[in-house]
Amino acid sequence: MTLTKATAILLLLCGTGLAAQNREADSLRHAYGRQGVASSRIVGTPYADTLDTGNPAVKVILFNDGTYRYIKDPSFTAGDDIWTKNWNTWSCNPYGNVTIKETVTLWLVDTLDSYCCPRIGYHSSKFGYRHGRRHQGIDLPYPTGTPVYAAFDGKVRVSDVVGGYGNLVILRHANGLETFYGHLSQRNVEPGQWVSAGDVIGLGGSTGRSSGPHLHFETRYMGNAFDPAWLIDFQTGKLRHRMIKLRPWYFDGGSNYVQAVDDEDEIFRTDEEERLLAEERARKEAEARAAAERAAMQYYTVKSGDTLSSIARKYGTTVQALCRMNNIKATSTIQIGQRLRVK
Ligand SMILES: [Zn+2]
Repeated sequence: MTLTKATAILLLLCGTGLAAQNREADSLRHAYGRQGVASSRIVGTPYADTLDTGNPAVKVILFNDGTYRYIKDPSFTAGDDIWTKNWNTWSCNPYGNVTIKETVTLWLVDTLDSYCCPRIGYHSSKFGYRHGRRHQGIDLPYPTGTPVYAAFDGKVRVSDVVGGYGNLVILRHANGLETFYGHLSQRNVEPGQWVSAGDVIGLGGSTGRSSGPHLHFETRYMGNAFDPAWLIDFQTGKLRHRMIKLRPWYFDGGSNYVQAVDDEDEIFRTDEEERLLAEERARKEAEARAAAERAAMQYYTVKSGDTLSSIARKYGTTVQALCRMNNIKATSTIQIGQRLRVK
């Protein structure tokens, strides 16, 4: 088998629909979702042979050093809607104006680990607003001519010169995610081409609206950009989790990755867990309110000569209110030494 062919079968992608993905996510998220994934590039690594497995979609690559690795055959998902629906080869957003109103659960990689960090290290410009203009991705310093790698397996949707992006490659991935690679000096792929994580899709550059060589990297879902830092820790190059829950607020123009949210297991909560937590919060709030009310209560011990109306006057309340609080009638006789609630 040729290297190109071997490269081609590295293309992953599970053709499960969104509903099915959400079901999977619910049962597997604690076991697998939390795990980070190191950036790796097996494309182009010399290997000795490929072997068939019982599953026609999965093959084994044997490397020269005796190690092996499972890989997937992309052609098994080629008929899926994800590669044809809302698909064109020229537009940054073929979805129209879609607003994400509910949390979306995406599996980013499966246990076969197909992920490659586009650039490990410092990133120079963040997602969000910059000089009053929305910056929909992050900028990674990238010397001209340096290889740019596909982050995940997928299919090339756009490879073209597009306005401020200059030379732009847009990849679509089987989970619906799209990744953008802008300002390239050279594009190595054509629309419709299958790519594997780690494939060289072009070379770094400074084409389009750019003040120096860098890679503009975007992540989008249904045409909506969100901070790529939710997916990738660019300092270490690691994919933070195998699974992500995209909350609607991630798509707000100025919203950046928040470490605290990630840390608090919030990402892995199911809707049911969120509901139970909300109930628990409401119960605690009600308890606190009742305690505050109890703390604010005041009592008065009836003395000689007191009447309900004199006590009411003294505490700035009414006879009706006193009666209600003490479960008595306005005509009831009060006794010296009797304790009455007055507030
Ligand atoms: Zn940029």
